[in-house]
Amino acid sequence: MPKGAVVTVCLIGDKINKAIVDRFLDHPEVRKCFPAAWKPPNDKTFCLCAPRVSLGSSSIQFGDHIVFTGDCGVTRLYKDGIGSAYRTARACATTLVFWGYSKDVLARHFQPVCDAIATDNRLGGRIFRLFELFRTTRFLNRAVLSVTQWEQEIPADQRLMSMTLWDMFSGTASYRSIFKRLLLSPKFLIRFALEILIALLGEMFLACQLFWRRIRRSKFLSDGCVT
Ligand SMILES: Cc1cc2nc3c(=O)[nH]c(=O)nc-3n(C[C@H](O)[C@H](O)[C@H](O)COP(=O)(O)OP(=O)(O)OC[C@H]3O[C@@H](n4cnc5c(N)ncnc54)[C@H](O)[C@@H]3O)c2cc1C
Repeated sequence: MPKGAVVTVCLIGDKINKAIVDRFLDHPEVRKCFPAAWKPPNDKTFCLCAPRVSLGSSSIQFGDHIVFTGDCGVTRLYKDGIGSAYRTARACATTLVFWGYSKDVLARHFQPVCDAIATDNRLGGRIFRLFELFRTTRFLNRAVLSVTQWEQEIPADQRLMSMTLWDMFSGTASYRSIFKRLLLSPKFLIRFALEILIALLGEMFLACQLFWRRIRRSKFLSDGCVT
């Protein structure tokens, strides 16, 4: 994420190692985001491994005279942990200053903030699963790419797929607003459905071509065997 003149690059996955990090930073598209003369420094603090990150809620966020804020209470799924730490800390401070610190008071004034984040995370989980399906299914992946390419020709505030991808990975918007924005745009949905159909037909055409080629080859071989 860019922070002024500084950027933190996080690669998330099961088997991330230095070779993968180097390859990522060396990719032409990534290089374009950095000053031309920039090179990864060779010191040990430049690349750190933080294998654990908080992704959701703890089973309890408060009790009598005790509150958990930030990562140890509830945090947003995959992103904006600082934002949710701030929101839960603010809700905690407001409750303590204006209402008190008993369990009941916290349940009334602090819990709704935690619940809102947890509910949004559940929706976020579903959206991520959907995008994982788009990523791993070739024709769906192609449809997402086609819509994103097509969107580059329309005004920026109408680029729903691009905005969604940006919001999903940057944490700028809540998952609820991402979901609502997508569902409430029939023009986008029709276009996306059309691209899915085109990509699916393309995929079927390729599969048929491959099938025919195989049949012809096996027929050729069996003819060859007969003569
Ligand atoms: C690799 C990585 C990248 C991230 N990138 C982003 C990002 O780009 N944007 C974003 O919004 N969020 C990001 N996050 C999440 C974000 O860092 C956290 O959600 C946020 O810092 C949580 O704030 P916190 O105050 O709850 O906890 P922390 O910031 O972890 O603060 C807890 C503090 O308590 C101290 N502590 C722990 N145990 C004890 C103890 N027993 N006694 C005394 N002190 C103790 C710790 O040393 C630490 O200083 C990232 C997290 C990771 C791991």
